[in-house]
Amino acid sequence: MKKPGKADAVSTRDATGHDSARTVDVRSKVTKPKVGPSSSQARNKLNKVKELLAAKREKDALKGSEDATSTVKSDSTSKRALSKGAVSSAGGLSVLQQKMQQKLKGARFRWINEALYTTTGDKALEMVQNDPSIFEEYHQGFSAQVEKWPVNPVDVFIKYLRSKPDKLVVADLGCGEARLSATVGQQHTVHSFDLVAYNELITPCNIADVPLPNDSADVAIFCLALMGTDFLKFIREANRILRVGGELKIAEVISRVSDVDAFVQALEGQGFKLARTTANNKMFIMLDFTKVKRCPAKLSDKPGLLKPCIYKRR
Ligand code: SAH
Repeated sequence: MKKPGKADAVSTRDATGHDSARTVDVRSKVTKPKVGPSSSQARNKLNKVKELLAAKREKDALKGSEDATSTVKSDSTSKRALSKGAVSSAGGLSVLQQKMQQKLKGARFRWINEALYTTTGDKALEMVQNDPSIFEEYHQGFSAQVEKWPVNPVDVFIKYLRSKPDKLVVADLGCGEARLSATVGQQHTVHSFDLVAYNELITPCNIADVPLPNDSADVAIFCLALMGTDFLKFIREANRILRVGGELKIAEVISRVSDVDAFVQALEGQGFKLARTTANNKMFIMLDFTKVKRCPAKLSDKPGLLKPCIYKRR
């Protein structure tokens, strides 16, 4: 059974949240005064203890309310900090805003991607010159896609070039961020071309018209770069800059090539000979050609050889 004094002490502690043990001690002194001193002495002592007790209660009550305030303060501070934490990670945006921003970025990437696949090289160049942020946005989206791939074809080309003991002149046509040059640029002479000079390794141009002399390159690479509807002009430009016997190396998204034979035939019509085809995974096809002669002066256009690579909305 609970002692009444103890119950009081507990309720005191509950109200203030402090020092119950000492409260009980004081109360036990109060409720059980020592026998001996005179009654007035005892009353004085009792009053003094009551005063002390009251003062202590008041102090506890005050402290309690201060603590309560500081709890509220720290609560709201921590709430502020929490929401700050949620926003600071993405430059002041809430989680919902971040999600919306991602969706918009994704939509914008798909729009730019489709635009590049459904227009000519000249128009693409004009488009990014008018708004260079397009390139930045495209490459952010492109990098996000690359992360999902089992193999990045650029790595296959890097491995190939690393295995070549002779110093080669390489043209990376549609180089993106110029990873090829950044990795094997010490071993070989790598010329990197793209619509925008994303870094100092890159010469901006339309790859249908690159600033390299005739017959000056040993290897020409198109890594996922045959984007323009007039991509046969890119192929002809590769033929112009390659020496006879030079290599044309292409990596493309396999689903773009509806008829491989027709594609190979079209390239062979531009002065190349197929050396090998590799489809080492379900996503990409790699085609290697050798330049056997200069391409004919007149381009006979073959529409529909490559389908645009359209990324799905997820
Ligand atoms: N080869 C790089 C980038 C692939 S993305 C890689 O594999 O990582 C395709 C690149 O081709 C883009 O950077 C795009 O800007 C470029 N490109 C497409 N059409 C082009 C054109 N007509 N002239 C120059 N670059 C072009």
